[in-house]
Amino acid sequence: MKNILSVDVEEWFHPEAVQHLFPRESWNDCEPRVVANVDKLLELFEKKSATATFFILGWIAERYPELIQRISDRGHEIASHGYSHRMVTKLDRKEFGNDLNQSIEILQDVSGKRILGFRAPTFSVVKQTSWAWEVIRNLGLKYDSSVYPIHHDRYGIPDAPRQKYQPLDDDPDFIEYPMSTLRILGKNIPFGGGGYLRIFPLKFTNWAISKLNSENIPAIIFIHPWEFDEKQPVLPLGRISKTRHYFNIKNNLLKLDHLLTGYRWTSFEEYLGKEN
Ligand SMILES: [Zn+2]
Repeated sequence: MKNILSVDVEEWFHPEAVQHLFPRESWNDCEPRVVANVDKLLELFEKKSATATFFILGWIAERYPELIQRISDRGHEIASHGYSHRMVTKLDRKEFGNDLNQSIEILQDVSGKRILGFRAPTFSVVKQTSWAWEVIRNLGLKYDSSVYPIHHDRYGIPDAPRQKYQPLDDDPDFIEYPMSTLRILGKNIPFGGGGYLRIFPLKFTNWAISKLNSENIPAIIFIHPWEFDEKQPVLPLGRISKTRHYFNIKNNLLKLDHLLTGYRWTSFEEYLGKEN
């Protein structure tokens, strides 16, 4: 079976863990690194015949339209990561709607394709922001992939379903794809992306993907371009934050290479299409 590959396209100065160091006004003065990092991923995906969903910030698409076209021309899905990487938990309904709408308009404009999906910055669709699904649906999207069914200090709906579900009672066509977890000793264990993917050994990741596949569930992998960039500026973060943020970036491309070789990969769009 095919698993789902996704990339959250943002710069090295966008993640929540470093955002206190980079107020919005400073972004234009930061060294741009995203284009080279995405191109590195595109090359690997091409070599491995892997198709992916790219959840892209509107801010990025505005600056590098040719990058978005390149991603789209290679058959990957263009989806939204919002405009300015603000967590939904820090916005009200109207602010979130404006931010998301702005990103959808830019991405559609640049790619010439309809945008179907959204991933919230820092998985910030949580219990207190469950109103977000209605906003996302009302802007014409078909799916969301923002829920992490785990306990975490920044995000998570620990008791959310571990498999795709319909979060809106009045709309069975709108789907939530929660991040992959394994159920071990009564607990949901994350493994499929970001720091989890970098910290766990390849053997464990392989076992986790195969375990989900044996239950007929596709694994969802999520990565960020900056997680493959050894030369990015190293920032003064606290100990835990630093570990989560920079651990094993050096070996991450090789690990991804192994995963792309060992399994078949597709986008959410293609997966949705196959189901309907
Ligand atoms: Zn992000």
